[in-house]
Amino acid sequence: MRLARTATACIVFAAASASAQTPQPIDLGNGMYAAIGFAVGAGGGGGATAVAVPQSNTFLIVTADGNVIVDTSGPAASVGHHRMLTAVSAAPIKAIVLTHGHGDHTGGVAQWHQSGTDVITHSSFPEFLLYQRRLAGFFQNRNAAQFGGGSRLAPVAAPSGARQGAGPTGQELVPTKVFDRRMPFTIGGVEFELLHTPGETPDHITLWIPKYRAAFIGDNYYDSFPNIYTLRGTRPRWALDYVESLNTVLALDPELVLPSHGQPIRGRDEIRRKLTKYRDAIQFVHDATVKGMNDGKDVFTLMRDITLPPDLDIGETYGRISWSVRGIYEGYAGWFDGNPSTMFGTPASAYGEIVKLTGGAASIVARARALLPTDPITALHLTDIALEGDPRNVPALETRLAILNRLFEKSGNSNERGWLQAGIRDVEARLKR
Ligand SMILES: [Zn+2]
Repeated sequence: MRLARTATACIVFAAASASAQTPQPIDLGNGMYAAIGFAVGAGGGGGATAVAVPQSNTFLIVTADGNVIVDTSGPAASVGHHRMLTAVSAAPIKAIVLTHGHGDHTGGVAQWHQSGTDVITHSSFPEFLLYQRRLAGFFQNRNAAQFGGGSRLAPVAAPSGARQGAGPTGQELVPTKVFDRRMPFTIGGVEFELLHTPGETPDHITLWIPKYRAAFIGDNYYDSFPNIYTLRGTRPRWALDYVESLNTVLALDPELVLPSHGQPIRGRDEIRRKLTKYRDAIQFVHDATVKGMNDGKDVFTLMRDITLPPDLDIGETYGRISWSVRGIYEGYAGWFDGNPSTMFGTPASAYGEIVKLTGGAASIVARARALLPTDPITALHLTDIALEGDPRNVPALETRLAILNRLFEKSGNSNERGWLQAGIRDVEARLKR
């Protein structure tokens, strides 16, 4: 597997070759089971032709009157999840609870839906699907770049907006029950409680089962700093929503926390330790960004300077603190940076003039090559300048390719690697023309 670590992710990818053996569900006790997001190959079979696909966990809760499903993974992974969990219990599906409206959680609804199955979401879920559908073309391109796979594979078509919102028979996915703040319900003698816990998305919810002290926390916890801003593009994800929602879950005092990506977290102490650290890391980055904004610092300075103290370091295999700093900054303030020249658009238009002044791209490319070993980011910017003035300049393209390859080899962040690969594919295509 090329990924340094198959990160927990809103959309997680892994190489198909990792799933040679038949995966088994995790028995969580009290009739609860988890199908952990696992990799499937093209056609769902795995094998040599590794294809990265979106996946998340699917949970089954068995009750005396029928089953409850929490999240359904993406369309491809859901086939295996359905097979695996139906082998545990084939009782009727009474309800499907969707923690939020992302395609890697809603894409398998059709696998589970039966006549009479309730689909339960937050009341803002339909609007959140509409937002994604409105921008379906935009997200299709961005997802294909970001989630192109952890290895040098052709980009994989990510779930389209329509697919993300597809219902049981391919029509629009319409929940049958929604709620605003809290909603209790009982199935087969098991009491459930739904809580609105916005974070990764505004429609995000947590399912709580008091009797089992189990909290299904969706994508509000990862084993990494989250994407408070994701590079594929998103409306602002409010850091203080995450903090408040994590406090809501902590106040339940759970003994079992089930994220929709990654492994279950067991035990009061471990849960308290992990969720508190995660919450405090988000709060720290938020507060440092706000302080910097009020101190008059620009966004790039803060992206560079804000780091977590060692006791709050939760890793950056999925989200990046720097992207989140910018997400928080621009979420609060919007795009204008206070520089009059950026009011007028097309900031790259001056690059052609710089190339003319230097007598062509050669000297800029030479400087980029010299900087590559020590400062590849500045070197990358220099290739932007050279190629703006001379888009077909082969030495500039070759230098850019070398820089992107260097950055890819050093990166341990799954999303960053996706975008570096997208850049590599772009340069390779331009070199072939
Ligand atoms: Zn997800």
